[in-house]
Amino acid sequence: MSLTKYRRKRSAENTPEPFGREVPTSTSTTGGTFVVQKHAARRLHFDLRLEMEGVLRSWAVPKGPSYDTAEKRLAVHVEDHPLEYGDFEGLIPKGNYGAGAVIVWDRGEWTPVGDPLEGLAEGKLLFELRGYKLRGLWTLVKLKKSEKDWLLIKERDAWASKDPEELPPESVLSGLTVEDLGAGRDRGEAIRRELTRLGAPRRPVEAKSVGLMLAETAERAFSREGWLFEPKLDGYRVLAARAPSEPRLLTRNGN
Ligand code: MN
Repeated sequence: MSLTKYRRKRSAENTPEPFGREVPTSTSTTGGTFVVQKHAARRLHFDLRLEMEGVLRSWAVPKGPSYDTAEKRLAVHVEDHPLEYGDFEGLIPKGNYGAGAVIVWDRGEWTPVGDPLEGLAEGKLLFELRGYKLRGLWTLVKLKKSEKDWLLIKERDAWASKDPEELPPESVLSGLTVEDLGAGRDRGEAIRRELTRLGAPRRPVEAKSVGLMLAETAERAFSREGWLFEPKLDGYRVLAARAPSEPRLLTRNGN
């Protein structure tokens, strides 16, 4: 389906989804952004979108991707979406096409192996993903005698697994699950409730007045509930703050 048709279909309706630009501005075939949106429409599915020629080529994958190379996941080729759609997370209102909650389940960069336009035309796309959850080599293969049905398959590499762990369900943007978003749940609510209970004063917090968390030495290595351990790397320790509008990064010296 063309972008124009897509716009016509959506623009008359009352939905928060972005419509995108009138005309694709880039004709890049060297990869770019990829996004996987988890979409609780009438039937739950994952939308895999690859940036190609200035739009997001899209496949609806009912069962989602799997790191098991033996799992061939049906991926139905659906209409192109504008690039802006890759940031969309929200609730498509009832009565609209695809009504239901959408989260950005994964996002990153994709790199085609070979010419992706040829691959798309011939029904075999091999590519590498560098996302938060999806990594390594993947293939989309079109089923013969089918208009729209493809298979999404993990290729053998260091990321592949015979018995893969379940991938995290949360959005990589908001930390919300598609169920949270659909139910209008707010991740900050429990924290605010706890702060109220503890009697925290209600006032703006000046980033400059907040101390940074620093590393300290200990007699020996230990493990304790509620602790996370990570290698101490060289670099700058920064404090990230968001004033009413713009985000700020402060070094230890307050720069
Ligand atoms: Mn969808």
